[in-house]
Amino acid sequence: MRAVLSAGSNMEDSRAHLASVAQEFAGELVAQSSLYATAPWGGVEQRDFLNQTLIVEVDQTPEELLRRCQALERNARRVRDVRWGPRTLDVDIVDIAGYTSDDPDLTVPHPRARERAFVLVPWLEIEPGARLGGESVAGIVDKLGDEGVRKL
Ligand code: ATP
Ligand code: CA
Ligand code: CA
Repeated sequence: MRAVLSAGSNMEDSRAHLASVAQEFAGELVAQSSLYATAPWGGVEQRDFLNQTLIVEVDQTPEELLRRCQALERNARRVRDVRWGPRTLDVDIVDIAGYTSDDPDLTVPHPRARERAFVLVPWLEIEPGARLGGESVAGIVDKLGDEGVRKL
């Protein structure tokens, strides 16, 4: 199963937290984007984020992949406090090839991915022909703008 993941951090050593994701999927990594510095999304005043999009090929169910992403967040001692607030590590499943779900515990494609340049711009870097919900990601970004997402 091929999946697109989006990782983000704006607490502690964000580079180290993002590195833990790439390390977890080291043997299953198809591609990983550069790191991007991005303004916070969702209106909470907080430090800028570092974000990265990764493509993985895993021999697992979507639920198993979600649990693995959540284990990474737990290892980073993530605390859920303010919605869209600061976090050590967030790992979302953006898309899974050939799979859709509207389960609130695992909605695929991720329902807010198309509004987030910090997810889409890094994704385009590693997959210029990427498609999300039947639309080209390049076309979505053209309409959305890059929202000041900066490649490091
Ligand atoms: P957002 O979902 O807007 O990016 P968030 O990442 O801050 O916000 P979390 O607190 O990390 O939200 O996650 C809340 C719940 O979202 C999790 O318990 C998880 O089960 C659920 N969820 C639903 N779809 C997905 C998905 N595609 N990837 C990751 N989590 C998901
Ligand atoms: Ca998220
Ligand atoms: Ca999340």
